[in-house]
Amino acid sequence: MPATDLAVSVANALKLAHELARDLRKCETEAQIREGIEELAARLLDARADAVGLQELVVSLRRRAKSADIKLINAAAFDNALDNYVRRETSSGGFVFIERENQERSPLFCAHCFGKRALSILQPTVLEKMLRCPSCGTVTKD
Ligand SMILES: [Zn+2]
Repeated sequence: MPATDLAVSVANALKLAHELARDLRKCETEAQIREGIEELAARLLDARADAVGLQELVVSLRRRAKSADIKLINAAAFDNALDNYVRRETSSGGFVFIERENQERSPLFCAHCFGKRALSILQPTVLEKMLRCPSCGTVTKD
């Protein structure tokens, strides 16, 4: 259930419980009072269950917001460092990224991962001149 629906449900259950408690004053017999108390207890139990659900949802949403913040910070840091890399064509016509200031000795970075704002160094394979990305599994020829 969405957070707003849960909040409305808690508010409605508490409103009903408040009205029942107010009406208990008007009860004249013990049986009416007992019935009213049972109804009041049921409404409060509903409100409590929805409040617990709402609490769990808030915890989950906070976790997601924190994760999204970290992703945004990492993406901004990557974007700020974009000028430090240049694209280079491989002998097979593919592309890799290398460090701008260290082009001769730079590690080769996976273009697929680079497009997803991640630096992943291509690793040699058992096949000569074939490189594999440990993150996404892309295989490219140097
Ligand atoms: Zn990759």
